[in-house]
Amino acid sequence: MHLGNYLGAVKNWVRLQHEFDTIVSIVDYHAITIAYEPEQLRQRRHDLAVTLLAAGIDPDVAALCVQSQVPEHTELAWILNTITPLGELERQTQFKEKSRQQESVAAGILNYPVLQAADILLYRADKVPVGEDQVQHLELSRVVARKWNALFGTPTGRRLEDGSEEREQFFPEPQPVLTPTPRVMGLDGKSKMSKSMGNTIGLLESPESIWAKLRPAVTDPKRIKKTDPGTPEVCNIYHLHKAFSTPATVEHVAVQCRTAGWGCIDCKKVLAESMETELVPIRRRAAELAAAPRRVDDALAAGAARCRALAHETMLAVRDRMGF
Ligand code: ADP
Repeated sequence: MHLGNYLGAVKNWVRLQHEFDTIVSIVDYHAITIAYEPEQLRQRRHDLAVTLLAAGIDPDVAALCVQSQVPEHTELAWILNTITPLGELERQTQFKEKSRQQESVAAGILNYPVLQAADILLYRADKVPVGEDQVQHLELSRVVARKWNALFGTPTGRRLEDGSEEREQFFPEPQPVLTPTPRVMGLDGKSKMSKSMGNTIGLLESPESIWAKLRPAVTDPKRIKKTDPGTPEVCNIYHLHKAFSTPATVEHVAVQCRTAGWGCIDCKKVLAESMETELVPIRRRAAELAAAPRRVDDALAAGAARCRALAHETMLAVRDRMGF
């Protein structure tokens, strides 16, 4: 997990788990759409669970579960595949980007958002906290939900204004929930922070490693010398300050930048300190959990049991309405 995932999505999950019935899914069936080593998959699944718990997901509050432990995800994905328009999948930005990077494209890359729709609709979820890059996929989940409801929702017996028959809205149309930082930029300052771009800071990275990346990170391109006044709004470091520093520090940073009071390195040092304030407790919790794998396994087992019960209920209704 990198800071883009954390600031763009996971921070919201930690907050919203206390306001909504929350399901956090480790989507290992999605992970296999790119080449991988089975043994590494096992390790990455465990590491991600550790990181999510360390970031603040409370397994007694939210259900933390592994997608492959709830077989209904793939069952519903197949069903949704049969009603998803191919054109909608082909125009997904992430599909276009990912397929451009590969010589031979597996169907899983194209169908990825259908499995994602199944992940959401299986729990009849109405809110999905994601980063901005996932908003398009969520729109597809709404298209699919609408289509399934129109085809298979039980007729209510009422007429709609256009004369057609009203059907039950079995699947809610899920809405995105964004954080104040829905698109965190990478340290190159050019593209979004992303594993595939190699421009990330890991949530659990050491302070030394973070500093080694922050030090050369791109700032305001017009600030060449320390004495050049800068424009905070165009600087990625300033935006990271807004995510990690107190409002008073953010204000101070902006003034120091505009008046050339600080150089970029001074500004980055203060950012590194602010980041440490937030990241130290997360790292500490992660170290504790890494030393207690049973706690992680128990959390995942409890989460899977909760999710299986919900998934079972949804699929009974889906199968019934579809003639199985
Ligand atoms: P990646 O793009 O690194 O492969 P994922 O696709 O696994 O990350 O994304 C997991 C979650 O983190 C999604 O909700 C996604 O929208 C969010 N996310 C990923 N990168 C960013 C970013 N740079 N800024 C904000 N949110 C992000």
